[in-house]
Amino acid sequence: MSNPCLTGSPFARRQLLRSAAVAAAAAAASAFPAPAIAQRRAPYALPPLPYSDNALAPVISSTTVGFHYGRHHKFYVDNLNRLVENDALGDLSLDDLIKSVATNPNRAGHFNSAGQIWNHNFYWSCLKPGGGGPPTGALKAKIDEDLGGYEKFKADFAAITNGQFGSGWGWLIAEKGKLALTRTANADTPMVRGASCLLTIDVWEHAYYLDYQNRRADYTAALIDKLINWDFANEQFAKAPKG
Ligand code: MN
Repeated sequence: MSNPCLTGSPFARRQLLRSAAVAAAAAAASAFPAPAIAQRRAPYALPPLPYSDNALAPVISSTTVGFHYGRHHKFYVDNLNRLVENDALGDLSLDDLIKSVATNPNRAGHFNSAGQIWNHNFYWSCLKPGGGGPPTGALKAKIDEDLGGYEKFKADFAAITNGQFGSGWGWLIAEKGKLALTRTANADTPMVRGASCLLTIDVWEHAYYLDYQNRRADYTAALIDKLINWDFANEQFAKAPKG
């Protein structure tokens, strides 16, 4: 094959030489770091689980963790990253993105995926093998003071969580220096209203159906008794505004 630089018309040769010069300039420029887009946070990450996928068994099976973390949680991350691919919202931290779209009906898809990422990131941290039982640390006294003691907390946390109609989340939060129990529907999250989240239980059916079928109350009771990570909850409480 002949070299078109040598055989083409003078015009074509000039064009090819010009293209070569442009390519050489681009290659030289690329030797220097591209200017950073300082605030770009996307793509958002699927954080690693803080334990192996069978560490919560038999309360939550590795099969449930495999689907819940590996499919559902991952789907929300992939979906949000697709939504912000060419979108300035991807410049925001996950927390700021959630707050910025929370009241915008045109960005409900962003809110649903981002809220679900935040809630699931939080949920896995709220659980640990060998957890559960009465609170430790500063939360022990605070639960006595604000929520009537551990036994009452346990019953009320289960009741408010189980009472979520359809998909959603039960929460222990701190707000204006006081502990409170609440629940949210679908992807909603108390952090968007400025509350400090301390614990959550996911009551979407995908969280428990493989292990407990329709027995949601058995799942929430087992989590409270056997998996709650009070160390994590105390860390969140330590960061919460005191008044
Ligand atoms: Mn879930």
